[in-house]
Amino acid sequence: MAIERTLSIVKPDGVKAGLTGEILKRFESAGLVIAALRMTRLTMQEAQAFYDVHQERPFFESLTKFMCSGPIVVSVLEGGDAIRRNRELMGATDPAQADSGTIRREYASNIEHNIVHGSDAPETASREIGFFFTESDLVRGVRR
Ligand code: ATP
Ligand code: MG
Repeated sequence: MAIERTLSIVKPDGVKAGLTGEILKRFESAGLVIAALRMTRLTMQEAQAFYDVHQERPFFESLTKFMCSGPIVVSVLEGGDAIRRNRELMGATDPAQADSGTIRREYASNIEHNIVHGSDAPETASREIGFFFTESDLVRGVRR
């Protein structure tokens, strides 16, 4: 199984609800290693740049406002098949459609305020990790 890295975000609703520890614990319990970790708050420009693929979507303005409405916790998760496994732990975008036991099903309010973000493919993971972390953050932080 390929060792991958993926970018995870505990979104402002997750941080506000005090769920950061619970969410990170789920990743670690599933065998994903935290290779880098940081709390930050996005500016509107940063949120727009991060979600630029959704620029044309009707929810873009509301999504970007939400993403800079409070602190977020960004991490790089590493492990075999990490991209798919992280998305499995998160559950479907819309919490109403998410499998029981997933983070979104348990904690998310709605399709927009859905607690977590996770990269969806190797190319997006690499872009999104680079958005928040440098290579040296990862080399120093990773547990081997
Ligand atoms: P993420 O990229 O956050 O991991 P995802 O890949 O499951 O989630 P995307 O389709 O990439 O979902 O959408 C990015 C984010 O935009 C979603 O997580 C959600 O916050 C918001 N979003 C997606 N669809 C809608 C919608 N129909 N209405 C409002 N917000 C939405
Ligand atoms: Mg996505």
